[in-house]
Amino acid sequence: MSTIFKKIIDKKIDADIVYENDNILAFKDVNPISPIHILIIPKKEIPTLNDIAVSDKELLGEMFIIAQKIAKKLNINKNGYRVVFNCNKDGGQTVHHIHMHLLGGRSFSWPPG
Ligand code: AMP
Repeated sequence: MSTIFKKIIDKKIDADIVYENDNILAFKDVNPISPIHILIIPKKEIPTLNDIAVSDKELLGEMFIIAQKIAKKLNINKNGYRVVFNCNKDGGQTVHHIHMHLLGGRSFSWPPG
């Protein structure tokens, strides 16, 4: 089943894209929980963290490198930021296409709720 993120990848629906290459897309979350809230997604359709394969390890690593670049570009690297992957119901995952939330521009409490 095609997700809303697949439609964004295929440019069937609009998103505020901040980064794109052959493997990865990054865009602003439509319902931000912090001043900076970017979603970094692989173009490959992987529903949940449970579905990652060993062969995806480079792709997952690339997502972190891109998060680092975006954080620097948006000047949140020094103050810091949080990256989050939600998985399934208890993790709060609503879109079943893996995505990294890059959150910044304010401080976050720990542990999360
Ligand atoms: P999660 O709850 O971890 O699955 O996160 C899904 C995120 O996708 C939520 O933060 C939503 O606000 C965001 N989202 C859903 N639809 C869109 C969209 N069309 N464009 C941008 N972000 C979206």
